[in-house]
Amino acid sequence: MGFLNRKKALITGVASNRSIAWGIAVAMAEQGCDVAFTYQNDKLKSRVEKCAKICNSTILIPCDMSEDSLIEQTFTQLKTHWDSVDIIVHSVAFAPREALDGDYIDVTTRENFLTAHDISSYTFTALAKAGKSMLNEGGAMLTVSYLGADRAIPNYNIMGVAKASLEANVRYMAASLGTNNIRVNAVSAGPIKTLAASGIKDFGQLLNYAAHNSALGRNVTTQEVGNAAAFLCSNLASGITGEVLYIDAGYNFVDKGPV
Ligand code: NAD
Repeated sequence: MGFLNRKKALITGVASNRSIAWGIAVAMAEQGCDVAFTYQNDKLKSRVEKCAKICNSTILIPCDMSEDSLIEQTFTQLKTHWDSVDIIVHSVAFAPREALDGDYIDVTTRENFLTAHDISSYTFTALAKAGKSMLNEGGAMLTVSYLGADRAIPNYNIMGVAKASLEANVRYMAASLGTNNIRVNAVSAGPIKTLAASGIKDFGQLLNYAAHNSALGRNVTTQEVGNAAAFLCSNLASGITGEVLYIDAGYNFVDKGPV
């Protein structure tokens, strides 16, 4: 019996078999959780179907999170399958490619600042607003952050500022939903080669640097992030809320000095 037996999770953010959301969905399903998926657009549907199949799920709901009405419709559709939900996973982020290439001040505009915050941070609150009435007491919400929230990392730029917003969002949402006994946490994943990551200039260098400078001397897998996410959303973590848990092979606290 898995530690998520009889739980139901809505997973957002699967775009390919490299997605962190894919790792989270599979890890949760392995622990006995029923999972449902959203997908951003029709181009991604067949890939999300593959993940759903692995997880024994047939629930796939289109949801472009740039519009509140579409987020609300997601829960209206989910309600036709399930009466309630225990876990909502937010694994979504976006900033225009040109904002992730070059000097922060030069490439940041009002427009890309707003877009990055809207899609990468606000949508977590929007999911809570739209999903709150379906979330069971004892439920959990989880999002995916990155060390760029704390440190100025080359080319990560506006996405780092949006991740700082997302992490503050975790704490405010945890305080708000805590009164309903719903927990809100984030995992801060080390770098992983995904579609979103490929939009960041010189991401390969960032991967190599993180592997060299982490305590474990390597990068993490989506499976490792998924396992930690599953734990945080389970009753095993019932005393944990408003936290950001690093799943980065110990990169965030190590400085190995000059090579
Ligand atoms: P990914 O490309 O597989 O996933 C990003 C997802 O965001 C995609 O499924 C995409 O469809 C979705 N998305 C973007 N705009 C959307 C919109 N308007 N509406 C609905 N969905 C939208 O990449 P990933 O790396 O798995 O990213 C998942 C999360 O993990 C992101 O928040 C990312 O910032 C975070 N993260 C990634 C890394 C990394 O190195 N890959 C590290 C730490 C945190």
